[in-house]
Amino acid sequence: MSEQNFDIVVLGAGSGGYAAALRASELGFSVALVEKDKVGGTCLHVGCIPTKALLHSAEVADVSRESAKYGVTTTFGGIDIAAVTAYREGIVASKYKGLQGLIKSRGITVIEGEGKLTSPTTVQVGDDTLTGKSIILATGSYSRSLPGLEIGGRVITSEQALELDFVPKKVLVLGGGVIGVEFSSVWKSWGADVQIIEALPHLVPNEDESVSKQFERAFRKRGINFSLGVRFQSVTQDDKGVVVTLEDGQTFDGELLLVAVGRGPRTANLGYEEAGVTMDRGFVITNERLATSVPGVYAVGDIVPGLQLAHRGFQQGIFVAEEIAGLNPIVVDDINIPKVTYSDPEVASIGYSEAKAAEKFGADKITAYDYNLAGNGKSHIIGTSGSIKVVRVNDGPVVGVHMIGARVGELIGEAQLAVNWEAYPEDIAPFIHAHPTQNEALGEAFLALAGKPLHAI
Ligand SMILES: Cc1cc2nc3c(=O)[nH]c(=O)nc-3n(C[C@H](O)[C@H](O)[C@H](O)COP(=O)(O)OP(=O)(O)OC[C@H]3O[C@@H](n4cnc5c(N)ncnc54)[C@H](O)[C@@H]3O)c2cc1C
Repeated sequence: MSEQNFDIVVLGAGSGGYAAALRASELGFSVALVEKDKVGGTCLHVGCIPTKALLHSAEVADVSRESAKYGVTTTFGGIDIAAVTAYREGIVASKYKGLQGLIKSRGITVIEGEGKLTSPTTVQVGDDTLTGKSIILATGSYSRSLPGLEIGGRVITSEQALELDFVPKKVLVLGGGVIGVEFSSVWKSWGADVQIIEALPHLVPNEDESVSKQFERAFRKRGINFSLGVRFQSVTQDDKGVVVTLEDGQTFDGELLLVAVGRGPRTANLGYEEAGVTMDRGFVITNERLATSVPGVYAVGDIVPGLQLAHRGFQQGIFVAEEIAGLNPIVVDDINIPKVTYSDPEVASIGYSEAKAAEKFGADKITAYDYNLAGNGKSHIIGTSGSIKVVRVNDGPVVGVHMIGARVGELIGEAQLAVNWEAYPEDIAPFIHAHPTQNEALGEAFLALAGKPLHAI
């Protein structure tokens, strides 16, 4: 039994929690970081990083298959899943080691164990009571399922999908959002038959509709099957496979069913409600400055309603540490957080879609320009198609950027600066983009919106 006092106690060491701890320690606070599993959380161990390793392996498979097109003779011999696993685990282990070292070097006290909020100023971990002048809740999320859809056997979540030691011959994917399409893309590149089932009318349904449609065309061209607009009804499984039935009676069979229908907040039985924290369907409700209903208690990351993204967690963690330090950090609304879907093709976006911008500012008050990557030399060289759409307010700033094509995720940096800095296309137009890069395509869209297109008609 021990009692320890800190300026700040952070519950959960995922993207949101560890970012808060790092920034708080930089600002001179004493910090306890409570973690029941591994520092780094979902993103490092079972999310962003390992999935991107799989996607890179998938890209290499495609490149080796298509190499003759570029005059290189190779033979694609197949996927050695044990080697893929070693590569993926190696990346995660190295980043994990780096993060542990970083946290240690900042003098943060890591407390291993399951923590529970026991009052507005205390977290209990086993026999230890940690008291903080401020508490930051950052307990993250888990893979959700649908009512009546039980995970087990051949019905798996992304955690089990990562760990598979074989490439399925035929796989069903429930959910055409970010996680569903990433795994679909990997499996297809590895040679599987893939069938996606999405209840909404589009794949990547949170994107600008023109991007969703191009994405569907690209997936269709790759031979990835999908069913849209009809809801899942039930699944059965036996030792041969799974059969999914949709509400309209259609059935699909496969070796496995990946359930990728979103992530729920990990907040049950952690003492939040008992301490007086206002909750809604398991999420922690905060004001725009991430303060909960209990003074001195803040929340960050996936438990706060909105986009569930690692870099949103980083931003919120930094924000709360600075808020506690009285630095009055700026609020970044979810709409201005960049989003990337890392599949083949990639999708990257920020700000208002064309339709949402028309709703918000008036259809006659905005202009959208869609630059086709067919006009971009570098995209042609690497064999990708797609487009970059920029939405501006007339005589006003850029309020949305929506991109699709190989590698466009790497272009989101400039887009997020333009949107968050409320730049006008005329401000950006004089700063020419390097040739030949894919980045030029974004520059061309800005030039066109500034009334001086270079390579655009
Ligand atoms: C397959 C997949 C791919 C993804 N890819 C991306 C991507 O490419 N880019 C991106 O931005 N986002 C991606 N995400 C989302 C990203 O992982 C999450 O948004 C991010 O991890 C959320 O951070 P967090 O700190 O809120 O929670 P988490 O990362 O979930 O961390 C919460 C931590 O709290 C700990 N914890 C929980 N309860 C307790 C307790 N009672 N006591 C002690 N510790 C506790 C957990 O063990 C965990 O380590 C992906 C997610 C998945 C599942």
